[in-house]
Amino acid sequence: MIPYGRQDIRQSDIESVVEVLNSDWLTQGPVVPRFESVVADYCGVRHAVAVNSATSALHLACLALGLGPGDILWTSPNTFVASANCARYCGAEVDFVDIDPDTYNLCVKALTAKLETAERDGCLPKVLVPVHFSGQSCPMEKIRELANRYGFRIIEDASHAIGGKYLGLPVGSCRFSDITVFSFHPVKIVTTGEGGMAVTNDFSLHEKMALLRSHGIIRDLQHMEEDSHGGWYYQQVALGYNYRLTDIQAALGLSQLSRLDEYVQQRNKLARRYDSMLVGLPLQTPSVSPESYSAFHLYVIRIKSQKHGRRQIFDALRAEGIGVNVHYIPVHTQPYYRRRGFRQGDFPAAEAYYEEAVSLPMYPTLMDTQQEEVVKALRSAINK
Ligand SMILES: *Cc1c(COP(=O)(O)O)cnc(C)c1O
Repeated sequence: MIPYGRQDIRQSDIESVVEVLNSDWLTQGPVVPRFESVVADYCGVRHAVAVNSATSALHLACLALGLGPGDILWTSPNTFVASANCARYCGAEVDFVDIDPDTYNLCVKALTAKLETAERDGCLPKVLVPVHFSGQSCPMEKIRELANRYGFRIIEDASHAIGGKYLGLPVGSCRFSDITVFSFHPVKIVTTGEGGMAVTNDFSLHEKMALLRSHGIIRDLQHMEEDSHGGWYYQQVALGYNYRLTDIQAALGLSQLSRLDEYVQQRNKLARRYDSMLVGLPLQTPSVSPESYSAFHLYVIRIKSQKHGRRQIFDALRAEGIGVNVHYIPVHTQPYYRRRGFRQGDFPAAEAYYEEAVSLPMYPTLMDTQQEEVVKALRSAINK
């Protein structure tokens, strides 16, 4: 089976993990802040908070922005459920903005129209979560303008997009947003096993997220609300969580980051190769806007065949050992969100996209011969 995505673990990764296993620290220790500062420097952003998943990072980001009951968070329906669930963890409501039929990111025109209506109806969002689908940044400059006009905050869900660029700036620079979140799940661009990170230029958002990452506990005397009882003393000053990343994971992440640019270049090379190998077939290949350098977490095609639907093509490829996948089932059509009032038909562009989408295998160690095998199987599935 050729999977749709997979990690690349090398001897150097194993050695850096073993080094931590032989050290005094296993959980969050000296390696976590090193990992944070390497990511922050890479992105050109001031602060970083490493956590045990992107889901946790999204939750902390929402809490730091003060999202709570009575508030609304908007995101794209074409995403993993976590981009929406983070609002529900905080007791806030979720709504969606339909997608752009070319980039599959949330559509700025739809966003503009929805904001106008929401302003009239008094239900503007407090937070918007643009998701950089497949590794391509959303048009953040325009989204920033809308945020200035309507007063919402922005969390970029860049789970797919570390190593990508927008207007020449690294994704994660937070030039146009409050917070950016990354995922280090094994299918993503670089991995820590499980893991995530939130980055920001805002010191106070950073402080809040760092506090809530570890139970809301402080040990620093200066910030305590009363005198210390002694050397053992700590205070819990907020209701936090245990969202810590371990030093074991951070060591893997640090080692992986040394190959980040190489990985993204390879992904782009594979994408260009797919583009040219798929010419002439009844399908739509991904389009990358000139503002973006995509990290190409995913290579998604849309099946436009008269003869076979997506399901048949998917099944035929799976039967040939090609581990294709589908990203994403529109979040508003999930039973949980249907129970909250959403319906089939609410976001037609995301639904139409979903009917045709297939993610082809895409990862840096995918060999040319395997890629040829994928295209051959796809060609025969379409011509069957
Ligand atoms: C993977 C992913 C997440 C969740 O990441 P975890 O690290 O697994 O929690 C959130 N949003 C998007 C868009 C993702 O692809």
